[in-house]
Amino acid sequence: MGLSSVILDRLCVVSMRTIRRLRIKVSSDGVFLYIPPEVSRDRAFAFVEKNSEWILKNISLLNARHEVYVTRSILNNFMERINGIIERCESLAGIYGVGFRFRWMKSRWGSCVPARKRVTLNLALAAFDDSVVEYVVIHELCHMLFPNHSKEFWGAVEMYCPDYKKQRGVLKNSPLPVYRPDIE
Ligand SMILES: [Zn+2]
Repeated sequence: MGLSSVILDRLCVVSMRTIRRLRIKVSSDGVFLYIPPEVSRDRAFAFVEKNSEWILKNISLLNARHEVYVTRSILNNFMERINGIIERCESLAGIYGVGFRFRWMKSRWGSCVPARKRVTLNLALAAFDDSVVEYVVIHELCHMLFPNHSKEFWGAVEMYCPDYKKQRGVLKNSPLPVYRPDIE
């Protein structure tokens, strides 16, 4: 049957004299296989194979813990607060008349068409605090002045959102939130 690549990719073999019994530990760092000196590799791998269902279950439990969900109420709350956020950013930057649209996107938090004064925001932003959403809105508004990521552009972003580096970091380090209207 062979081992699933999900397990093989994570497998770390630990063989030390001090290990007393054959065991497996699943953590976010990997699947650790502890082999005592008297146990052969073949027997140890057969042991992993025998327990593969249990290992896979624990890997998926660990993965689930790292997911961020947007539930229906989180999304409703976002739609209630977003207009206030946009108004605040517009008056901060002194840029008005931009049309905002919302949709789920896979790889970007926001996008814009400066020529049409149009901005699209990722609904996944619903999972974040106002300060993070404000940074994204300011970022897109500043593209109305600079349709690029030049020094001047980042200078404008910093002027209206002084801690933008922090908010960018939050977004970079977060998994993409997933819409789960079925849970609450
Ligand atoms: Zn940009």
